[in-house]
Amino acid sequence: MIIFGAGLAGCIAGIMNADATILEGSSEHRPNHQALLRFRSPIVSEVTGVPFEKVHVQKAIWFEGKERDPSPRFTALYSRKVTGGVSRRSIYNIDDEVRYIAPRDFHTILIRRLLNRLIFDFKVQAVGVTGVVGENDRYQPREAKEPIITTLPLPTMALITGYSSILEEFSGERSKPIEVYRSTIPGCNIHTTVYYPQFDSPVYRSSITGDQLIIEAMRPLRHNDLNMVESAMGIVLDKESLKHYQQPIGKLTPIDDQQRRNFIFNLTTKHNIFSLGRFATWRNILLDDVVHDIYQINRLSQDDHYQLLKES
Ligand SMILES: Cc1cc2nc3c(=O)[nH]c(=O)nc-3n(C[C@H](O)[C@H](O)[C@H](O)COP(=O)(O)OP(=O)(O)OC[C@H]3O[C@@H](n4cnc5c(N)ncnc54)[C@H](O)[C@@H]3O)c2cc1C
Repeated sequence: MIIFGAGLAGCIAGIMNADATILEGSSEHRPNHQALLRFRSPIVSEVTGVPFEKVHVQKAIWFEGKERDPSPRFTALYSRKVTGGVSRRSIYNIDDEVRYIAPRDFHTILIRRLLNRLIFDFKVQAVGVTGVVGENDRYQPREAKEPIITTLPLPTMALITGYSSILEEFSGERSKPIEVYRSTIPGCNIHTTVYYPQFDSPVYRSSITGDQLIIEAMRPLRHNDLNMVESAMGIVLDKESLKHYQQPIGKLTPIDDQQRRNFIFNLTTKHNIFSLGRFATWRNILLDDVVHDIYQINRLSQDDHYQLLKES
């Protein structure tokens, strides 16, 4: 088994496939995910063996200077703000929820465990009849037709495999980068999230996870936006301590579902490549779903299942 990409999905797949080699394009480990990360179930903790904390999360909606109840209007405004389209988003329900929290260095823990079979600086460029082609010879394929799990963004995979027709789906804006700001709040230990559906501020969500404040925004923040977050969350911010990150692919806007499915099906049946994770499948899924998908892929990638799929 070969895995393309050592983001969180690729690392979880690597832990669940003890003989897999992981090929990562960047030259060293850089945690890709700085936005909020909460899990709906303990399954990712169970399969990786990394203990998670079970917590209760309290939520609110902040609109024009006041806390508000959920409504169809706020769902539509929030959805338009973060994706440009109208769909059901998490602002729909602000009841308290149970969530599971990974340690802050979760990604680094997984990377350390995989170091003996993880190859950095191997940017996959093509998948041909002789196997995987990259910019260098750091990886030598064991056999040409080993099953592959790809976690690379779907348009990157389309370029790599030469399926240019689906790239037309990406000619408009299909994902938006997001700005993430983090800071530690000394002495704090709560789990909260506030949603901001109003359009005149780029902030769409701010959260506290233990002592970590995470502000997510569609554009860089201004001073007024931080004042709004302080009022909405009931905190005083040390503004100098905020660290700024950019997440290049933030919220996804759907592409034509039939084209998306055909592309993923062709990758599997023609190249023995299985797509895994949010960006590879172009669906707003969570890492809990990724674990179920890895179980499915592991079953399907056994020869007989693969053959059946090919013949169907
Ligand atoms: C704002 C936001 C909030 C989220 N919140 C949650 C949450 O609360 N809970 C949850 O479970 N999930 C959440 N998610 C989803 C979660 O972030 C993603 O599922 C996960 O981080 C994505 O990891 P990945 O491994 O699929 O992709 P990536 O992290 O993008 O990893 C892909 C890897 O492939 C590498 N790569 C790219 N091109 C090549 C190439 N040609 N060759 C080799 N390597 C290459 C990249 O360098 C990268 O390391 C959220 C996502 C976003 C955007």
